[in-house]
Amino acid sequence: MKIPNSDARVHVLDQNSDVWTVIRDIASRAHQEDAFYVMNIGEIINKYDQWTSKLPRVTPHYAVKCNDSLAVLETLNALGANFDCASKGEINKVLELGVEPERIIFANPAKPSSHVRFAASVGVQTMTFDSENELHKIKNLYPDAKMVIRIRCDAAEVQCQLGNKFGCDPVAEAPGLLRVARSLDLDVVGVSFHVGSGCREPPVFRRAIAAAKDVFEFAKTLGYEFSLLDIGGGYPGGRGTTIDEIAEIVNSALDAHFPDESVSVIAEPGRFFVCSAYTLVCNIHSIRNVIRTNEETGTTGTHRMYYINDGVYGSFNCILYDHQVVVPQPLEERSGAKYYESSIWGPTCDGLDQVIESAVLPDMKIGDWIVFEDMGAYTLPVASPFNGFPIPTVHIVIEENMRLIVDDMFDLTDGHFEMLRIPDNLKNENDTPYKLPTFPIQVGDSILDYVN
Ligand SMILES: *Cc1c(COP(=O)(O)O)cnc(C)c1O
Repeated sequence: MKIPNSDARVHVLDQNSDVWTVIRDIASRAHQEDAFYVMNIGEIINKYDQWTSKLPRVTPHYAVKCNDSLAVLETLNALGANFDCASKGEINKVLELGVEPERIIFANPAKPSSHVRFAASVGVQTMTFDSENELHKIKNLYPDAKMVIRIRCDAAEVQCQLGNKFGCDPVAEAPGLLRVARSLDLDVVGVSFHVGSGCREPPVFRRAIAAAKDVFEFAKTLGYEFSLLDIGGGYPGGRGTTIDEIAEIVNSALDAHFPDESVSVIAEPGRFFVCSAYTLVCNIHSIRNVIRTNEETGTTGTHRMYYINDGVYGSFNCILYDHQVVVPQPLEERSGAKYYESSIWGPTCDGLDQVIESAVLPDMKIGDWIVFEDMGAYTLPVASPFNGFPIPTVHIVIEENMRLIVDDMFDLTDGHFEMLRIPDNLKNENDTPYKLPTFPIQVGDSILDYVN
């Protein structure tokens, strides 16, 4: 596993420690002020486990665009997940992990020609389309491709809409496109859809699977025997969310419309696997107190403006692009702290760079830390170092019981672990020192490098 920065090691958490312990440890280091992430690999393993038990018929193809960190990709690969790539760059990255091209779906319905040629050269055959022009392009560049028609079926309520850009109408457009594909002698193998990212309307999966079934039936009339149903992404992944309701609806719709197990069913979850695995920790470097008048009540009061070292040009781009609602949690709760109407701002000189418009927060000081959970989806890959503010580094942790699973996955031995001394001020309640062993895996090394 590539460790993304120089002082990150994989901390192993015992029963006395958790992500917050590690955060306190890192935050209390001398001169520490940079924002950082703590990433819990165990969370991804848990999610994978949930997926396979709740959706046993549906093979996940992780959507790489959601978070393309090597630690994420290698963990999911070791667990047995497949991949959804949208470009030559993503395909390349996944192939470099040693993933076979048959385990990749090129799920971008509008592909630049050079990317199609690349897919052809490396044998990534399965790809989506939703337009006639794409069919002609593929006919020219990769006539052996296995094509998947993407239909549109939008959830009524989503965090991020996709249907405005992709997906043909299953009734008005799909039949015509399939006729063109047939006339070009292209091999269409199935149907895909994406209900929208961060789906808040589970029953949409029933409608979408039923619509896909109709397209399967129509394709039969042209002599196609479809074998692939791709139910896309959209599954929530934050703390306190579950895929129980979606899973129930998907499973019953599959039983109703695709009882024949010869149709393979895949999905393209992104957010689900990574959202809760990442916790972001930011430092307050400036504070401004301003007098504000409440327009409704006419009363004046002090408003605190906190400036932190990550903002909408960095990790919090998710607020603008992914419509994410982020929740600030002060790392230390001071007893007796006064509460103030507050706002939180990113570090750049742009007025747009606001993280929280308004929240009631305890009085904090320069140097205090604010923790944001559920920051693993659509954050890091989009972040830029605009205005000279660096993208936070990532520290990786895993629970001790999970470590055994990772040992198995990556074939590690005890020799790869090391005890870490915990500073006295971080000892736990019953005053035994925390045990935080670490992998002695150094910068730029891969866990896989340790496998004989
Ligand atoms: C972004 C994307 C996904 C992942 O969506 P999530 O909502 O994160 O699960 C899956 N498939 C395609 C084609 C995408 O563009």
